[in-house]
Amino acid sequence: MNRRRFLRISAGVSVAAFLPDGARAAPARIVVVGGGIVGSSIAYHLVRRGAQVTLLERAKPASGATGNSFAWINATFSKQPRNYFDFNVLGMSGWRRMDQEFSGDLKIQWGGCVEWYPVGATADALRTDVTRAQQWGYAVHFVDQIEFHRLLPFVMPEPFAAASFSEREGALDPVYATQTILERAKQLGVNVMYPCEVKGLVRANGKVSAVETTNGRVELDTLVLASGVQTPHLAAMADLRVPLKISPGVLAHTSPVAPLLDRVALAPQAHMKQNPDGRVVTGSDFGGTPVTDSSPEFGQKLMDRAAAYLPELTQSKLEFVTLGWRVMPQDEYPILGFADACPNLYIAATHSGVTLAPIIGQFAATEILDGARVEMLAPYRLSRFG
Ligand SMILES: Cc1cc2nc3c(=O)[nH]c(=O)nc-3n(C[C@H](O)[C@H](O)[C@H](O)COP(=O)(O)OP(=O)(O)OC[C@H]3O[C@@H](n4cnc5c(N)ncnc54)[C@H](O)[C@@H]3O)c2cc1C
Repeated sequence: MNRRRFLRISAGVSVAAFLPDGARAAPARIVVVGGGIVGSSIAYHLVRRGAQVTLLERAKPASGATGNSFAWINATFSKQPRNYFDFNVLGMSGWRRMDQEFSGDLKIQWGGCVEWYPVGATADALRTDVTRAQQWGYAVHFVDQIEFHRLLPFVMPEPFAAASFSEREGALDPVYATQTILERAKQLGVNVMYPCEVKGLVRANGKVSAVETTNGRVELDTLVLASGVQTPHLAAMADLRVPLKISPGVLAHTSPVAPLLDRVALAPQAHMKQNPDGRVVTGSDFGGTPVTDSSPEFGQKLMDRAAAYLPELTQSKLEFVTLGWRVMPQDEYPILGFADACPNLYIAATHSGVTLAPIIGQFAATEILDGARVEMLAPYRLSRFG
């Protein structure tokens, strides 16, 4: 019998036998609700430690925010204060670890990110941001015209006053990456069920004992809600308030084209990246403007904006437009951890969930299986909302 099989069969017994004094015994049955990148990562990190995991997804994997995400892996520049910046840096390192664990199968593009602005307030803000990030030890520097053209040979920027290169950042295809993580999780023993919608929670003695689903009742010891914008609705069934705010985001996806971008490009009016399948993905806001227009006309407008910087894009066609709803907590910081009022219910609701997925998976496994409380997560508990 190999080690993995042994751990799976003995989950809940073997792990408990090696736990330090005071640690919580490993729960025998963990149910994760949500097959986005966060739920998939949590399920993967739990099962690789021998836990018994069922993942329930109401539609199909990556059909929520994940499938409509720009999926840039980064810690710039809105990632403040310091704790949140450090958390995102750990997310970036987590992807490098997972890239190794998956032998490159996640197809992450590790080309970094170039950002630039013409003379004005945004260029001044970029200078301030870069200086602070450098003080925090981040691998970012200002670039001149020569380096700019080496990094983005197909991009024609208007004259810029400030440009930066964040060297260690990356991007991925969120649908492909989620499917790949879930496939591995399944191989390790996660029972992935979809379509399977959780319709209700069964409660006993202040805890959740089961979920009622469209496929019947599933008994559990620990429930993880990684259900995206549906998390408040499900948490309310346990009398918990998970405050999210509405934050739509629209992206245009082109037909596949020859390699044009090795890295994320943040132009003044458009952000762009190229997926491994050759599709260029472009949008124009990171949450500032609430646009919900996903018409082909608006998609074409986004593409035209990108083509103003990347002329080769005129050779591609608009293929589809996505409208996604960010999982945006009211104060814009993650909500992570066990709920005080329902001690076997673990919540994972976050924006920047692509960047953070690996480290959330790792920390959730630590907190669920070992009974530890990760200090770095202290600012992100549900209890901060009172
Ligand atoms: C336009 C846009 C751009 C973004 N850009 C970036 C970026 O560049 N970098 C970055 O790091 N992040 C980015 N994000 C944020 C990131 O995509 C999200 O934080 C992340 O995808 C959240 O993943 P999740 O798994 O928590 O949620 P989701 O992907 O929404 O997954 C939740 C899943 O739960 C399922 N579910 C819901 N209710 C139930 C139920 N009752 N029963 C069963 N299943 C249920 C849903 O079907 C869904 O599949 C962006 C988001 C958007 C919308």
